[in-house]
Amino acid sequence: MTKLQAIRGMHDILMHEIPKWQFVEESIKNILNQYGYKEIRLPILEKTELFKQTIGDNTDIVSKEMYSFDDKNKTSLTLRPEGTASCVRAGIEHGLFHNKTQRLWYMGPMFRYEKPQKGRQRQFHQLGVEAFGFKGPDIDVEQIMVCSRIWKKLSIKNINLEINSLGSAQSRLNYRKILVDYFTAHKNKLDDDSLIRLKKNPLRILDSKNPDMKSLITNAPTINEYLDSESNNHFAEFKEILDNGDIKYNVNQKLVRGLDYYGKTVYEWTTCELGAQDTVCAGGRYDNLVEDHGSSSTPAVGFAIGIERLLELINLEKVTDNSIPHIYLLISGNKSKKRGLLLAEEIRDQEPFIKVLTNCGDGSLKSQFKKADKSSAEIAFILGEDELEKKQLTVKYLREEKPQITIKWNEISNFLNKTLLN
Ligand code: ATP
Ligand code: MG
Repeated sequence: MTKLQAIRGMHDILMHEIPKWQFVEESIKNILNQYGYKEIRLPILEKTELFKQTIGDNTDIVSKEMYSFDDKNKTSLTLRPEGTASCVRAGIEHGLFHNKTQRLWYMGPMFRYEKPQKGRQRQFHQLGVEAFGFKGPDIDVEQIMVCSRIWKKLSIKNINLEINSLGSAQSRLNYRKILVDYFTAHKNKLDDDSLIRLKKNPLRILDSKNPDMKSLITNAPTINEYLDSESNNHFAEFKEILDNGDIKYNVNQKLVRGLDYYGKTVYEWTTCELGAQDTVCAGGRYDNLVEDHGSSSTPAVGFAIGIERLLELINLEKVTDNSIPHIYLLISGNKSKKRGLLLAEEIRDQEPFIKVLTNCGDGSLKSQFKKADKSSAEIAFILGEDELEKKQLTVKYLREEKPQITIKWNEISNFLNKTLLN
């Protein structure tokens, strides 16, 4: 039999990593609540054509990175590589955008067939945040503020905002021609990847990470000269509101996004702490996507945070482990065993915030104490035959130098409230 192993680039998240995940997930949920964003849960599988039509055939994601397969009915399905496409599909399907605005978010696994390395997995997790029906740059800034608040809550420093405007479809088309001329004139300096992009998606050459291409890209014409006036105004106002909110940013005129649906505002949050995979969050406007898929005109803007990259930036000491029990219940004797399970239930009924770990299975008191210690519980309750008879418990403090005491069963709530819940 072959050795059982997870798929390359797809990782188990083991128990000791969970507190960090839950801390981040909870913090993010609370912040999104503060801004009135609502959660939406979307399928992990969609028809392949959805991603082809939204993200674009010539993007890296669609041309190289999708996990696609035919189901038994010969329909081509794809494990979602990102969430905006599904969110737009769901919104159109359920009429969520008719004459109303929507602020939505989702969180979960995404799948891309990429070369696994630090900061790059084949199954990774994203928080996606999307707003529909808002035209002006105020909502763009609101989403930047959501990000800032997340960094602050998670004590993440050294994170920088880069912004750009990709203009209207027409201005991108005009700029594309200029770029193609420029790069064609320097064709001998292009690497293989860029030669392909020159034909298929020339704006993406600007996104090359190849150091040999750097000076060529630095000297390339920039999009700002080709922006239409509406996009120009939108971008100016966007920057003005950022300035007004004292939010620092760099305008990076070479910032393009890897998905075709973006226009006008685009941005990325990058850090110097992650090495090559330095983008933690990326987003922007996609005002035409909903309309292009047959619904009425619905401007939209959103961003996605890569949760694994975010977790790399968080200091573990700040995270409390919610799974640590308060009480470990040691049990000795057969009769106590039956009563012990019920006693733990009574405690959970009366004190919903108390976590009780019952020693299931046998074992000497000594070995049970070892388990209690390992569980990190603060207090041990001991229910032996003597305690059972007297309807009481022996209490031992596991983390403090305090003498052991006995308490009656009917005093347990009172005791817990005094010692643990104040
Ligand atoms: P990159 O340039 O790093 O490939 P991208 O432009 O493909 O990023 P987006 O599609 O914008 O990334 O996704 C938003 C965020 O999701 C990224 O900024 C990153 O934090 C995270 N992300 C994307 N792909 C991966 C991956 N394969 N593994 C881990 N995180 C990822
Ligand atoms: Mg990518």
